[in-house]
Amino acid sequence: MVKAKKNRAFEFLGESVAPGERKVIELEAAKLYTHSPLSIPVEIINGKLAGPILMVNAAIHGDELNGVEIVRQLINTIDASKLKGTLIAVPIVNVFGFIHKSRYLPDRRDLNRCFPGSEKGSLASRMAHTFFSQVAKQCDYILDLHTGAIHRTNLPQIRADLSNPETLRIAQAFGTPVTIDAPLRDGSLRSEAERLGIPVLTYEAGEALRFEPICISAGYLGVKRVMQSIGMLRTSRKKIPNTVIAKSTSWLRAESDGILRTVVTLGDRVEKGQVLAYISAPLGHSEIELVARKGGIVIGQQTLPLVNEGDAIFHLAYFEGDDEEAELLVEEFIEDIIDADLEPLTTGQINTPS
Ligand SMILES: [Zn+2]
Repeated sequence: MVKAKKNRAFEFLGESVAPGERKVIELEAAKLYTHSPLSIPVEIINGKLAGPILMVNAAIHGDELNGVEIVRQLINTIDASKLKGTLIAVPIVNVFGFIHKSRYLPDRRDLNRCFPGSEKGSLASRMAHTFFSQVAKQCDYILDLHTGAIHRTNLPQIRADLSNPETLRIAQAFGTPVTIDAPLRDGSLRSEAERLGIPVLTYEAGEALRFEPICISAGYLGVKRVMQSIGMLRTSRKKIPNTVIAKSTSWLRAESDGILRTVVTLGDRVEKGQVLAYISAPLGHSEIELVARKGGIVIGQQTLPLVNEGDAIFHLAYFEGDDEEAELLVEEFIEDIIDADLEPLTTGQINTPS
């Protein structure tokens, strides 16, 4: 057997983390009006043995919380003495948005449209630049955790540029039932890091401003499977759940204003012509049907029952004949997570960093 190579100290923001150690390091991001510094907390877990550098980050959109808990659970279970490579855990990237329970920054910009950023640009652009140049660029892999926006929920899913074979490989390892071959969107962390050749997965699950146990457990398990697939953790004998790849998706929009009653939910398979929801006046009159134009799987939907014409109500993914398999995988996936019987949302610090 080839003996694994010893790891080196990990240098980060002028600090050094020895092999087998962990450290919390604050990345100075900005200042409040009061001159109080605002920093992004980063935990570095440097494995005893050599391996890749992985960043797991959440809350680039400050109100997307499921990923914050995924990162907490993850760092609590990683043992630096058994880890190969280096884990950079960043539970909250958009610290401004997080303290205001907002997706955006105080300048109303979306941080995930501002990468790679610039030193002399807007507040958002400067924060993007700090995070991108000081943290993201150092990584061999990035897992970026998101949820739907406010009043929107997503089926746990991976979005990735599958034309990169290594990105495809880790997307399959993550093991959500649905993977979306999503084009790169300018200014997102995913597209700018992929352009530098860093494989990035965006995990989308659940709704903003919520802690949702299934989405959290699915994300935690997925991150661990990716860490196994890139050699950071010992491989497990457990089977990786299958995924089906969607080549396209589209939103179905409300065709009138009113009160929404949905009759399908996340993970459901729908057929062309099927009624997915009703929109009516408050007394139930002048009801209209919202009908699927194409068969697919529901991967996202609005949760607020009040709609205006043009609001995006259902996000559907299309699979070219694999709809049935996708629906089955969703059912198995949720059963597996319930069976996995994780301890969601419990407190208790296991690993205390220096
Ligand atoms: Zn997001």
